[in-house]
Amino acid sequence: MDRLIPCNQCGFETPKDDFSEGVCVDCCEANQKALDVHNWFYDEWEKLSDKDRETRINMAIT
Ligand SMILES: [Zn+2]
Repeated sequence: MDRLIPCNQCGFETPKDDFSEGVCVDCCEANQKALDVHNWFYDEWEKLSDKDRETRINMAIT
């Protein structure tokens, strides 16, 4: 039986071997997806001109 360690993120007791970067596999996967989304938005934002950014901001406010 593997030793169970509570995940730093969700607190779920997970076998030691299933840990990845200090969190359980599920959390690691979720974090990776969140990071991908964040990077995608960042890339899109970087591509925008100042005028486009202004338009987006105004859209977000209204
Ligand atoms: Zn977790």
